Amino acid sequence: MKRWDAIVVGAGIIGLTTAYHLAKTGKKVLVLEREERSIGASVRNLGMIWPIGQPIGPMRDIALRSRDLWLEVLRDAGIWFERCGSLHLAYHEDELQVLQEFVSQVPNGSETPVIVDASEAGKLSTAIRREGLLGAMYSASELSVDPRTTVHQLTRYLAESLGVEFRFGESVRSVEPGVVATSNSYYEASEIFLCLGPTVGDLYPDLIWGRGTRLCKLQMLRARPKHLDYRIGTHLCAGLTLLHYSNFAKCRSLHLVKDRLNLQWPNQIAHHIHLLVAQHADGTLTIGDSHEYGFSFSPYSDEQVDQYILDYLDTFLATRDLEIVQRWQGYYPKHEKESFLIERPESGVTVINVLTGIGMTISFGLTELAIGTELLA
Ligand SMILES: Cc1cc2nc3c(=O)[nH]c(=O)nc-3n(C[C@H](O)[C@H](O)[C@H](O)COP(=O)(O)OP(=O)(O)OC[C@H]3O[C@@H](n4cnc5c(N)ncnc54)[C@H](O)[C@@H]3O)c2cc1C
Repeated sequence: MKRWDAIVVGAGIIGLTTAYHLAKTGKKVLVLEREERSIGASVRNLGMIWPIGQPIGPMRDIALRSRDLWLEVLRDAGIWFERCGSLHLAYHEDELQVLQEFVSQVPNGSETPVIVDASEAGKLSTAIRREGLLGAMYSASELSVDPRTTVHQLTRYLAESLGVEFRFGESVRSVEPGVVATSNSYYEASEIFLCLGPTVGDLYPDLIWGRGTRLCKLQMLRARPKHLDYRIGTHLCAGLTLLHYSNFAKCRSLHLVKDRLNLQWPNQIAHHIHLLVAQHADGTLTIGDSHEYGFSFSPYSDEQVDQYILDYLDTFLATRDLEIVQRWQGYYPKHEKESFLIERPESGVTVINVLTGIGMTISFGLTELAIGTELLA
C-alpha cells in the first residue's frame, strides 16, 4: 500500500484549498473524490469572493485573508477573475440608514466600505436602476470567479504545479486513524482531512446533524445578456440581502427594513429569497437565490420561486434584455449560529466543514487556519 503524508477527501473548494496549504508546506498529498469531477456546491455557487458579507471581527479577517490568498493563487495559476467590488443598493431611507450604520462600525482602513450617492453608484454600475435610488454601500474588496471552471482549473494547477495527486471516482466509505477505505482500495497517510460538504454526516452524523445543522436548498438561475458588451461592473444586491447576512444584525435600523420588506415582499420573505448578481468572463450573470431548510427536499425546482427571484431582480437591474439559459439547485449545510467547523473526531483525522453559504469566500483562510490548528495539535 502506497503512503502519503496527507489524504484529503473531497475535491470541492475546501478540499482543494486544504490540499494547497498542505502541498505548500512540502507534504505529499493525495485527494480522493467520489465523483468523476467536482459537482457539489463549489461549482454551483455565484463565484462571489465576498468579504463584505462577513461580520466585523474574526470572520471578516478570515475572509479578507482568504481573498488575498485567492488573488495570489488565481494570478499564479492564470485563472480568470475580476476584482469587481460590490454594491449594496438602497432604494429606501431605512436601507440607506442600515448601510450607514454598518459602515460606521467597520474599523477605518483600506478595506473599509463607503457610502456613495446615486450618481456615484450609477458610475460604478451602469446596469442598475437609477429611479428611486438613494445611495449605496460600495466595497472594493470583492472578487468574481467563475464557479463553472475555477475548481477544475485549480485542480489542474495543484496537480501540475504543486504535485498533488488526484483520484476521482473513489468514494470513501470508512476512515480510521491512518487509513482511508474507498470502494476500490485502501490508502494510508498520517494525516487525513475530510472536506465532504454535507455528506460528512454519512461518516460522522453526530458531528454535523447532532449539533443542529440542517441542509439548505437553493434555486439559481443563469442569464445571458442579449448585448455582448453588457457589463454590470460590480457584484450587485439590494434591500433583501440586509436581512440575510449577520453582518447587519447590529444595525439599529434593521428592524425597520425587516418590517417593511415583510409587508412589501411577503413571497420573497417566505422563500428566504435575497438577490445577489455576479457576472463572469463570458458575460453571463449568475442570479440567486432562494433558501429552503430541512433534511429532504422536493427534487423539482419551483418555477414560481424563480419568478419571485426575477421580480425582485427587476427592482434594481435596469435591463430586461436577459435570456435565462440555465437553472439549477445547490445545497449546503446550514447552522443557525456557527459558520464552520474544524473537528478532530479521531487522532489524525480532521473534519473541515462550512456551515453556511460562504465557503468560496472563506475557503483559503479557513483551511489555512485548520491546517495551522492541526499542526499545533
Ligand atoms: C447555490 C449556492 C450559491 C453559493 N454562492 C456562494 C458565493 O457566491 N460565495 C461564497 O463564498 N459561497 C457561496 N456558496 C457556498 C459555497 O459554495 C460552499 O460553502 C462551498 O462550495 C463548500 O465547499 P465544500 O468543498 O465544503 O463542498 P462541496 O463543493 O460540496 O465539495 C465536497 C466534495 O466532497 C465529495 N465527497 C462527498 N462525500 C464523499 C465521499 N464519501 N468520498 C469521496 N468524496 C466525497 C463531493 O463529491 C464533493 O465534490 C454557495 C453555495 C450554493 C449551494
